[in-house]
Amino acid sequence: MKPYCDSLTVYHRRPTHAVYAGTLGIGGEHPVRLQSMTNTDTNDTEASTAQILRIAAAGGELVRLTAQGRREAANLGEIRRCLDERGCRVPLAADIHFQPAAALEAALHVEKVRINPGNFNDRGGQFDELIDRCRRRRVALRIGVNHGSLAPAMLERYGDTPEGMVASALEYLEMCRERDFDQVVVSLKSSNVRVMVHAYRLLAAEMRERGMSYPLHLGVTEAGDDLEGRVKSAVGIGALLADGLGDTIRVSLTEAPEQEIPVARILADHLAHRAGHPAIPAVDETLYHPYEYHPRRSRAIGPVGGGQTPRLWSELPEEVRASVYVTDLAGVDRIPADRIVVLTTDHPHGIAEQRAFFLRMEALGKDNPVIIKRTYRETSLEPLQIKAAADTGMLFLDGYGDGLWIENETPSQEITPEAIEALSLSILQAARVRISRAEYIACPGCGRTLYDLQRILARIKARTSHLTGIKLGVMGCIVNGPGEMADADYGYVGAGPGRITLYRGREVVRRNIPQEEALDELIELLREDGVWQEPPTA
Ligand code: SF4
Repeated sequence: MKPYCDSLTVYHRRPTHAVYAGTLGIGGEHPVRLQSMTNTDTNDTEASTAQILRIAAAGGELVRLTAQGRREAANLGEIRRCLDERGCRVPLAADIHFQPAAALEAALHVEKVRINPGNFNDRGGQFDELIDRCRRRRVALRIGVNHGSLAPAMLERYGDTPEGMVASALEYLEMCRERDFDQVVVSLKSSNVRVMVHAYRLLAAEMRERGMSYPLHLGVTEAGDDLEGRVKSAVGIGALLADGLGDTIRVSLTEAPEQEIPVARILADHLAHRAGHPAIPAVDETLYHPYEYHPRRSRAIGPVGGGQTPRLWSELPEEVRASVYVTDLAGVDRIPADRIVVLTTDHPHGIAEQRAFFLRMEALGKDNPVIIKRTYRETSLEPLQIKAAADTGMLFLDGYGDGLWIENETPSQEITPEAIEALSLSILQAARVRISRAEYIACPGCGRTLYDLQRILARIKARTSHLTGIKLGVMGCIVNGPGEMADADYGYVGAGPGRITLYRGREVVRRNIPQEEALDELIELLREDGVWQEPPTA
């Protein structure tokens, strides 16, 4: 295995050089930075300023705004002035797609510019001009690759794969290196958590080999809202932070942007301060498959293992009690062959200890089925959701685990058995090992959004969440929406004010329909395709 981090059993943050967005240091010795993005119209100075102030008050350290053209890019200067007048120095980042001219304009006003190599239309050396301007004004750059919007040449060569995403980022990173410009952060986002984690690990490995130390910006795109959005982000971002990857994070939720920050805070804090943890015995790292999904083969014992769908546990039923062996890594060598393992941990770097357990099992040739168990003492639900997803999601992404058992020892009104069951199912769904309801690839919204995303997403969910296994894209705009909903089966995409276009995969099937009719039309389309089912009656 080409290594992407120093060790699978010793926590180290990946060494990076510091990049500065204004006075905000990202990477180097700086803590993981938290950021969000506005969903106001960037031309609306007042609304954008007010929202940025709310994000900053919630603890956001960098705020991104979309700048779809030169006009929006120029207005970033106005917004910067308004914030300065109100004593808010939070650095701003401009989000650019398609228009190099907008990137050049934005670089005059903000502290960081994000470009998407998949659609940065560099005719006539505008990338050189952008680098010169960033260098002169001390503006940072983000090379922000998105699964679903790779450049045609990359798509042709690699397909829509983590390898294609990595190649796309490296092409631009090499261009920055040739120009001796190192104020660059890089991201490789996807709404598919498995693709996202594989892509970042692969990029970290490639950068190691090439002697590159650019900081990483982590995020899961189109994660959705509520439990699903929190869990998807925590599984993906958490898996990477646990191995010391990541210097700034954005939890993207289809909610008010300031609500993203407390979630990001819990996640970053949960995975920080692990350096110097008690030793975990070294493992044979060649047995690990970090860049592809490689399900572990376990033997079936009763209802567990042997390729059966991972089950949820909250207590041991009578019929399996006698066949269970409860242990942590310390007991791995003594596991009898005929037992279901309940794997526990109280190690401060528990995710690495539990991963080491699976690698040790493999080295010993043991194929017992394993239920991954984690125990918490939380008093409210949101921290439990985020921590449990971050602690267990990676193991399922890596193909380990035949069951999941999340336990909370502290009594709490919010943390009911039903809430734990919903959380556990959501983790398994985010890791794509058990699909128990419809999946929504919903963008968080930005200045391009053409309808009330939060309200519409809630309505769509209310009517369709029982459609197990279907993936629905709910995207704010037609410019980026169709590309970025990636592998959605159907798409509901803002086409103009009050107008929606419906997609089947990548194909447009209803164009520009009035918003009031769009949900019924979507259901009609599902009916025609034979995938609609009436919801279960309560
Ligand atoms: S899909 Fe469109 S509206 Fe949604 S976040 Fe992306 S650019 Fe903004």
